[in-house]
Amino acid sequence: MATNRTFTMLKPDSLEKGNTGAILEKINAAGFKIVAMKQTRMSKAEAKAFYAVHSERPFFGELVLYMTRGPIVAAILEKENAVEDFRTLIGATNPDEAAEGTIRKLYAASIGENAVHGSDSDENAAIEGSFHFSGREIF
Ligand code: UDP
Ligand code: MG
Repeated sequence: MATNRTFTMLKPDSLEKGNTGAILEKINAAGFKIVAMKQTRMSKAEAKAFYAVHSERPFFGELVLYMTRGPIVAAILEKENAVEDFRTLIGATNPDEAAEGTIRKLYAASIGENAVHGSDSDENAAIEGSFHFSGREIF
């Protein structure tokens, strides 16, 4: 994956609350092009693998339950400086600390149920995009 791409998931709480359209609208308005997108649901094994870097953290069990309790929308986004700009658009992990107007400030309930995922590096964007999409699903 080129380094002008990032990976996102609209997490189960966003779909449960009917926020999918509003969040995608903000992503489009911020200038990101959607080059891959699907609604899917992770198994427990898939969520454990996706978040393996957090496996020793105290919130890992809850995180896996949360991320597998319903469908997500996974997408690969393209824009200049995609990883950093998308992290700015979503805001801090904890919505209480997220800047006004960010997706997490607007739509996240808590540090755990925080509406969206955004990759933290070009390397992880490529790994995470490949985790969810095959080459023929990326345009
Ligand atoms: N998380 C949590 N409690 C914490 C920190 C993180 O439940 O104290 C969850 C939250 O859903 C977060 C995810 O674990 O989005 C991954 O954590 P990370 O530190 O990578 O935050 P992010 O990169 O998503 O901002
Ligand atoms: Mg992270």
